[in-house]
Amino acid sequence: MSFGVDYTMTIGGVPVSSPRKIDVINPATEQVFASVPDATAEDLDRAVEAAQRALPGWRATPHAERAQALRRAAELLEAHADELAELFTKEQGRPFEGAKQEILGASFWFRLTAKMTVPVEIVEDTPARRVEVHHEPLGVVCAIVPWNFPVLLAAWKIAPALLTGNTMVLKPSPFTPLCTLRLGELLREALPAGVLNVISGGDALGPMMTSHAGFAKISFTGSTATGKRVMASAAQDLKRITLELGGNDAAIVFGDVDVAQVAEQIFFGAFHNTAQVCVATKRLFIHDSIYDAMRERLHALAKQLKVGDGADPASVFGPLQNAPQYRRVRAMIDEAKAEGLTLLEGGAVPDRGYFIPLTLVDNPPDTARVVVEEAFGPVLPLLRFSDVDEVVARANDTEYGLAGAVWSKNVDLAVEVAKRLDTGTVWINQNLQSTPMIPLAGHKQSGFGVENGLAGLLEYTQPKSIFIPKAA
Ligand code: NAD
Repeated sequence: MSFGVDYTMTIGGVPVSSPRKIDVINPATEQVFASVPDATAEDLDRAVEAAQRALPGWRATPHAERAQALRRAAELLEAHADELAELFTKEQGRPFEGAKQEILGASFWFRLTAKMTVPVEIVEDTPARRVEVHHEPLGVVCAIVPWNFPVLLAAWKIAPALLTGNTMVLKPSPFTPLCTLRLGELLREALPAGVLNVISGGDALGPMMTSHAGFAKISFTGSTATGKRVMASAAQDLKRITLELGGNDAAIVFGDVDVAQVAEQIFFGAFHNTAQVCVATKRLFIHDSIYDAMRERLHALAKQLKVGDGADPASVFGPLQNAPQYRRVRAMIDEAKAEGLTLLEGGAVPDRGYFIPLTLVDNPPDTARVVVEEAFGPVLPLLRFSDVDEVVARANDTEYGLAGAVWSKNVDLAVEVAKRLDTGTVWINQNLQSTPMIPLAGHKQSGFGVENGLAGLLEYTQPKSIFIPKAA
């Protein structure tokens, strides 16, 4: 079927189509509204070859020029922000304002990453010799991103990889390929041919990429289960890997907070993007002394804030992004009901589309599936606690370790608790904050390696120690 717009892959700086297509569904209507190329093994080979051909020229390009190309990419995103945001809402489901925030967030990422430098460390400087450690690009990077933040998470990979002199083949999720393909089209103007290649495809393409011998590194964001497959595949030829995976983040709210003041922020920390955020609050521990007040306030917000088609300006939250995710979250809620847990539902949602009301679960046992598993959807367990040691132990009792939050007027206490949480990030009296300068490093099964910050930048490089003798 033709939908008017022909979304193309970008290989070697030029548009590439494919006779085979995959459908793209609007999650608010369940209607197919676009189709994109389904890349073949030959398309992948061509993309890797294009990236390899571009590599010597790009790594020899001065850092300042590479940074300038990132700034140009930022300008292009800004110039097309409305167009991209509209498309984003259709394919991803998030209402326009939040969609536009993501496009501008990606542009911010390009701009700020462009300010970063790759250090040359002098580790020894004696009368006999100087030893310098340089950081060299790895080569062609395979970048694979999920459907929850398709543009921002692509920028998190493109910006540092390209700044440090690598070239890339990027693959979006089959559920959200449109904005990423469009990004590839726009960036043809900012980058030399072959530096950034964008290909789309179905479920077979990811494994084809991770086992392709032409890549030096895989940068992957997605679920922990897939991350393990990626790691196994990378082991074949020891490709470098960075894995940003799932989380089951705890927020701990102490009894001294002003419930009316913090409830809304805590609510959005859990439900932003219809709770499809890797670092969302997924287990909310509330001190016994304010539990009832907080539960009532959160429930009032759930009833008040509209869930609907992102194309409707009144909608604050959109649908679940895709049918499998919808079914998974529905099943978790049905199971919680069947177990006799108390569910507090938000306002009504449209009958059609992958909509689920924002749902709170009133103090389930820690062993309930809705507490143990990452829901990645709008069902939030509220958990009572009364003791600091107890709540830290319960918060840490998970295979995940992505992020967490502590809410208290006693910032010293909050910092002490933050130090005891086994996660890569802890926010105090805030949440969902990140910048290109701040590392995001999943502990335990939430990741492998680091994204963002200097450590994240250097993950796209390998060290080279050069021993330089001094004149005798
Ligand atoms: P997913 O693992 O199903 O898919 C992610 C990407 O991997 C998609 O592009 C998919 O096509 C591809 N893929 C699937 N199987 C593959 C394979 N065998 N080999 C290579 N690639 C493969 O994840 P999802 O459902 O798209 O995303 C949701 C998950 O991502 C959640 O668990 C969430 O917490 C996590 N996430 C983590 C972060 C982070 O920074 N830590 C950020 C966003 C999302």
